[in-house]
Amino acid sequence: MYFKRLEIHGFKSFADPAVIEFNEGITAIVGPNGSGKSNISDAIRWVLGEQSAKELRGGKMEEVIFNGTESRRARGMAEVTLVIDNAERKLNVDYTEVAVTRRMYRSGESEYLINGNNCRLKDIRELIMDTGIGVDGYSIIGQGRIADIISNKTESRRKIFEEAAGVVAYKTRRAEAVKK
Ligand code: ATP
Ligand code: MG
Repeated sequence: MYFKRLEIHGFKSFADPAVIEFNEGITAIVGPNGSGKSNISDAIRWVLGEQSAKELRGGKMEEVIFNGTESRRARGMAEVTLVIDNAERKLNVDYTEVAVTRRMYRSGESEYLINGNNCRLKDIRELIMDTGIGVDGYSIIGQGRIADIISNKTESRRKIFEEAAGVVAYKTRRAEAVKK
C-alpha cells in the first residue's frame, strides 16, 4: 500500500489543478522557500480528515481555500484527492485503487468521497484506521513530532504504538458500544 497520486485544486497556493505522482519508495519534494512544499503535506493531512486548522498552519479552516493573489481571483472551493494503491487489499474495500476526496466551500460546507461516492468523514476514518496513514498515524511526521515521541508525553507515545499495533479500530468500536 502506498500513495500513488495527489490531485490538488484550489487548496492553499494551488490555484490551478495540480497532479503529483508518487512511486513506491522515496519521493523527495524540493523547491524554494514559500513554493508550496509544506502545502503538499498539508493537503495529504487535510484529505485524510484533519479537523484542526492549527495542524494545517492556519487560523480558520476556510484559509485552506486558495485566497487569490494580485493577479488571480480567490477560489470558492478547495478539493484534494489522494489515490492510494490497494493491490494488497490492506484497505478493507475491494478496489485496487482507492481515491479519497475532500471538498470544502467558502460557506464552510464539506464533502467527502471514496472512489467518487459521497461518504461521511467517519467512513474515511474507518477506512484508514490501523493502517498508519491517518492523521494520528505515523505516515506524516510533522515538525516537533519526533520530539513529542521521545518526550515524556506517554499518552501521545501510546497512541502511536496502538496505531502501529492495529488496535485502534477495536478500541474505537468498544468505546462506541459502551456509549450506546
Ligand atoms: P519553506 O521552504 O519555507 O518551508 P514551503 O515550500 O514549505 O516553504 P509552503 O509553506 O508550502 O512553502 O507555502 C507557503 C505559501 O503558500 C505562501 O506563499 C502562502 O502565501 C501560500 N498560501 C498558503 N495558504 C494560501 C491560500 N489559502 N491561498 C493562497 N496562497 C496560500
Ligand atoms: Mg515548508
